[in-house]
Amino acid sequence: MPELKPCPFCGHEVQMSYRDVQIYWAEPGQVARVWEIKCPECGAHMEDHYEHHLYDKWNGLTRLDRCPICGDYIRRIEPYEDYDEGTYYYVECRKCGLSTRKFSDSMEARVFWNARHGRG
Ligand SMILES: [Zn+2]
Ligand SMILES: [Zn+2]
Repeated sequence: MPELKPCPFCGHEVQMSYRDVQIYWAEPGQVARVWEIKCPECGAHMEDHYEHHLYDKWNGLTRLDRCPICGDYIRRIEPYEDYDEGTYYYVECRKCGLSTRKFSDSMEARVFWNARHGRG
């Protein structure tokens, strides 16, 4: 896994860890894993149930860039219900209608939207 960006507040290196928490409505011992990124210097932190989601969020990959066609800032991420294939997600520009293909994971759709040819 690539590196985590430093703390946005103080610039210190951050640490990623997880803990298992009891699910309040479940049998004793049935736990859910919570991943956490924490800055040991200033206490900034962020949590998610999925390691890769947390990583993406911390590094700013969940932010959606402008539409590559029309440059509009307005865009949305939509769940798409398919009778055969279940729920999919895609990102679509409200202004020009440009859309990514369908992804089973909303985070993948965001990363795809942001990763464009010739960028950066
Ligand atoms: Zn910090
Ligand atoms: Zn557009």
